[in-house]
Amino acid sequence: MILNCLNCKALVDAQEISNYKNDITDAEDYRTTSYGNELLSTYEEYTLLKCPSCFKPFLNRFIYDNEYGYEFGKLITLYPVSNKIINSEVSISIKKAFDEALCCFENKIFTACVIMCRKAIEGVCKEYKIEKGNLKDKLILMKKEGIIDQNIFDWADALRLSGNDAAHDLDVTFSLEDAEDIIEFTYAIIEYVFTYREKFILFIERKKSKNSLPTHDTDHTTEK
Ligand SMILES: [Zn+2]
Repeated sequence: MILNCLNCKALVDAQEISNYKNDITDAEDYRTTSYGNELLSTYEEYTLLKCPSCFKPFLNRFIYDNEYGYEFGKLITLYPVSNKIINSEVSISIKKAFDEALCCFENKIFTACVIMCRKAIEGVCKEYKIEKGNLKDKLILMKKEGIIDQNIFDWADALRLSGNDAAHDLDVTFSLEDAEDIIEFTYAIIEYVFTYREKFILFIERKKSKNSLPTHDTDHTTEK
């Protein structure tokens, strides 16, 4: 399994040592669903792994949820924790680009850090099959399709411009503060698109399937 080793500051193919499964179907938020003739339960799996180069351990928790008639796993790395671990459902190319940006930052190579952040944003567009044109065209289409809102578009567009400067203008340099902000924005964009947006879509689907989504706004106020 590909994991980000904070000690090696690299993506490594971590080796599994042992695992433990625990059925959590009886918990209120999890359920058992049948798919065809197969009964799918919801469970969590803890996996202990080690880095093949520095031998430091990882502890992962997978939650296999079957709420929608199929099983999907969600990975959380419990140990080691970084304040900027990218959500597991993001493609390897985005993870890699962001990991390299962090690595450049830690090594004070700020221009390369900004270029890698721009690359990560390119990866976000690619994940949604938006691949035509330059990054500006792609971001406009992302906004048009409702994948990002105006604020995220503005952040991503500022990132794009910084990335262009970093790649093409020999006289442009980036300070630690600039690079740090750009990393924060990149991280926030990836988290917004792949975690919060996806979570919100699932929340709405769940509400719809329970028929509990209000058909009209019941939030009455006396204001006219
Ligand atoms: Zn390592």
